[in-house]
Amino acid sequence: MMRQYELVERVRRYNPQTNEELLNRAFVYAMKAHGTQTRASGDPYFSHPLEVAAILTDLKLDDATIAAALLHDTIEDTKATRAQIEKQFGKDISVLVEGLTKLKKLDLVSQRAEQAENLRKLLLAIADDVRVLLVKLADRLHNMRTLKWVPEEKRSRIAEETLDIYAPLAGRIGMHDMREELEDLAFRQLSPDIYRSIEGRLATLRDPSKGVIKEIEGELTEELAKKKIKAKVKGREKRPYSIWRKMERKAIGFEQLSDIYGFRVVVPSIEDCYRAIGIVHTKWPFVPGRFKDYISTPKQNDYRSIHTTVVGPGRQRAELQIRTAGMNEIAEYGIAAHALYKDSDGKPNEMLIRDSGAYAWLRRTIELLDEGSSPEEFLEHTKLELFHDQVFCFTPKGRLIALPRKATPIDFAYAVHTDVGNNAVGCKINGKTAPLVSELQTGDEVEIIAGKEQHPPAAWESIVVTGKARAAIRRATRVAVRKQYLGLGRKMVERAFVHAAKPWSDERLSKSLSRLARASVEDVLSAVGRGELKAEDVVRAVNPDWRGEREKRVKPQRSEGWFGLARGASLKFRIPGFSGNSADPKEEAAIPIRGINGELPVRFAPDGGAVPGDRIVGIITPGEGITIFPIHSPALKDFDDEPERWLDVRWDVDDVASQRYPARILVTAKNAPGTLAQIAQIIGEHGGNIDNVHMERRSQDFTEVTIDLGVYDLKHLNAIISQLRAKPVVSSAERFNG
Ligand code: MN
Repeated sequence: MMRQYELVERVRRYNPQTNEELLNRAFVYAMKAHGTQTRASGDPYFSHPLEVAAILTDLKLDDATIAAALLHDTIEDTKATRAQIEKQFGKDISVLVEGLTKLKKLDLVSQRAEQAENLRKLLLAIADDVRVLLVKLADRLHNMRTLKWVPEEKRSRIAEETLDIYAPLAGRIGMHDMREELEDLAFRQLSPDIYRSIEGRLATLRDPSKGVIKEIEGELTEELAKKKIKAKVKGREKRPYSIWRKMERKAIGFEQLSDIYGFRVVVPSIEDCYRAIGIVHTKWPFVPGRFKDYISTPKQNDYRSIHTTVVGPGRQRAELQIRTAGMNEIAEYGIAAHALYKDSDGKPNEMLIRDSGAYAWLRRTIELLDEGSSPEEFLEHTKLELFHDQVFCFTPKGRLIALPRKATPIDFAYAVHTDVGNNAVGCKINGKTAPLVSELQTGDEVEIIAGKEQHPPAAWESIVVTGKARAAIRRATRVAVRKQYLGLGRKMVERAFVHAAKPWSDERLSKSLSRLARASVEDVLSAVGRGELKAEDVVRAVNPDWRGEREKRVKPQRSEGWFGLARGASLKFRIPGFSGNSADPKEEAAIPIRGINGELPVRFAPDGGAVPGDRIVGIITPGEGITIFPIHSPALKDFDDEPERWLDVRWDVDDVASQRYPARILVTAKNAPGTLAQIAQIIGEHGGNIDNVHMERRSQDFTEVTIDLGVYDLKHLNAIISQLRAKPVVSSAERFNG
């Protein structure tokens, strides 16, 4: 732990007139107040306010701020009162500590995350004195640095809040180093896998180019010195989070990300900045589109600098920021740079703070509060400036979800929880049903509607904008496909054993794995499912003396249920392509079929379809899934020789007609004006839904009309057919059996 004199020494280095006595008193007071309290790490609690104060000395803040940092947790966590602190340290410091105490309470409330309200209160506290924000940010930074000691279940919430609120706030008031460190620490917590992989990639890039930073630093300094510019060049590797952001924003892979080095070139004058950029651009090729002049047009938070990216020494891409020392101070410390100690009585120079653009922004924002807008309205206004590349949405319970612009409800769902994303089938935005592919706007309240045992359509991967969602969809798709092949293979193997009249179990199969040269039962079944291994070969592996003779061929319609399949397992499946022309994933229908108890892909035969009431049969196709045919379908003839592919299935629908199923009918109609309209009208009047019509003139007098339509069940279909037959223009109407 830092010693008392070390802290004072740190302050004295930038503020020779520091009020030592005041700092000492605050140190002792806080140390005594926290007494034997310990942090989660086991360290004395007092080490925390001390570290927060130390962070603020790096920002060269005034005595009152340092003292307030030492005292910031005393009112909330110890017996100390505001009155005592005011008596001992004066009004200025007690107001700061009071402000920090209010903010501390917010942290606890935000468990259930009423963050819009929190942000409002945070900014209200800052309104009293901007130094409150500086201490708060330092407090958060130290808490993030020691996050590993916090109980697991709290870490992610703290990290999320840091990424959503504190890091952007630090950036908005120009404290870029603070912002970057906060982001990086939060990112490490929230996406440890990605963090590690970027770090790993950085390490491999780093190795061969050892010393590349020093090399470029040296060459830049020398090149500028030749032209009589005294430049201080400082290089660094970019942080994993900023690399990740770039990968996300530009949708590029790590390999394509070549500029991982950044250099700050600090020169004496503005004129030197422009001379330096000229020298750099003549010496090294620059990357088009990367030159930005924030000196002639500063950013809103006062940031000024010239940016460019060059292909520098050693063919290494390097991003350069060229600026003066004064600009650099603001770039590093933001508002804190203006809060530098100026007066002999230890107060920051108010004028300097108020003149700064970042402070003006804070003031404007705070004025909005006085106009009495609701927290949501307020957030709406604030985030537009604070978080211009993000949208802020809410769960129905009021939890704030921050997303990049153009994010969809699918991204939202995955941001809430991976399971929510995987099970999403629809959504409501502000209470209204909306497509999952909508673009979210800030302030939207998003309710995700979950299905059961869903898995996300692979097509979502190209719709979402967040890496988290993309990775989760990819993972879920892989798992689903594996499961499907596994289920399909299991079904086929079961059938083959039944057919060979041989007993079957996983255990038997596991004893014969070596004969199949597979590592596990799952491997065997998946291979069969993918069509790489014949089910018969599996039977033979388990029963080496089986010769392959078949039982008498039995068709399912005469032997209902003889497969002994598990009953009652109803499966709802997405059938890509079933709803045909619709690209909207939420319109994918489900086939409710009984008799299939694995995660199998199921679809209707392309010609003719099947409706509840039809006797149906499933045909297994390795590597694809199960196709449902009505038993009367002539197409089934093709499978006569392969009875092991036949599967007994039945509908699993209740009496309430809620879903339409595809059927095809053939109508022979007289050639007369308005015939088609009459046919369509009858179908419409009886609740049928026409999907497609194909007409072919068969003769002078008659036209054959093929109609694909959606009906609730066989009764419904037959009713429509009878109605059609009753019309004089219709000469015949019948079901098409594809
Ligand atoms: Mn604290």
